[in-house]
Amino acid sequence: MYVIAVANEKGGVAKTTTVVNLGAALVAQNLKVLVIDLDAQGSLGLSLGIEPAKAPFSSSDVLLKNSPNFQCIGNVAGIKGLDLVPASRDMLLVEKFIPMQPDGEFIICNALMQYHTDYDIVLMDCPPSPGMINQNALIAADLVIIPTLPEFLSVSCLRNLMVVIRQVKIQYNPYLQYRLLFTLYDRRNRIHPMFSEQASNAFKGSVLETKIEIDTKIRESSVRGLPVLKTSPNTRASLQYQNLAQEILPYVEIQKGHTQSH
Ligand code: ADP
Ligand code: MG
Repeated sequence: MYVIAVANEKGGVAKTTTVVNLGAALVAQNLKVLVIDLDAQGSLGLSLGIEPAKAPFSSSDVLLKNSPNFQCIGNVAGIKGLDLVPASRDMLLVEKFIPMQPDGEFIICNALMQYHTDYDIVLMDCPPSPGMINQNALIAADLVIIPTLPEFLSVSCLRNLMVVIRQVKIQYNPYLQYRLLFTLYDRRNRIHPMFSEQASNAFKGSVLETKIEIDTKIRESSVRGLPVLKTSPNTRASLQYQNLAQEILPYVEIQKGHTQSH
């Protein structure tokens, strides 16, 4: 099982969109995928047609230690192989609760162990704020995908997240990797192609080749509570999320190789 945190301390950078559409694209590659909403706003559930307030359980049950195991809704958006752990407003209580717990940093890491043989990939939709939930997710992850606009100010905002990633690597999770993903990419804006090239050089090897362009079909599909792969499979952003899945697959394969040789 390969665990990916989709994180950025900024909102509106396509974290949730990436979890939904990369998740669906990975299922199309015959992988079994669990998506976990860690954001109190519950947008991940909504984007997959689940009203979070109506779900009988939430990721906060685990983070508030009311349950040792995540519970999930199977085959969301009618997609066999895509399961969802929704979030609830109780996630807002988690930031204060975790520091009072012994081994509070490992709650997600420990809870994910139950799924080792059930899923190929876990994708976590992280909240848009620094703190304990993000740290918990990074400790549990093999890879952090950081969606960001290809613009100077957006990439500058990543400085704090980079510090947190470095600390997590030193203290808890030495094999944690990160990759930037350029989202809301606008070809007609002269800055975006220029900046993304410069950033790819500056962050040598840590920028994903796939870029996700602005595509209104993405917005329309999330309103319908479905991945764009279901509503408009051949639209630009849908094809780009499928490319992203292809680019991510080798990471998962390498991990599988490691686990088998242990
Ligand atoms: P975050 O989870 O980081 O806050 P979202 O995934 O909710 O960001 O995306 C923010 C907004 O941008 C949403 O309205 C979403 O539909 C829209 N959006 C995301 N990706 C694209 C895209 N490639 N093209 C057009 N709109 C997009
Ligand atoms: Mg979101």
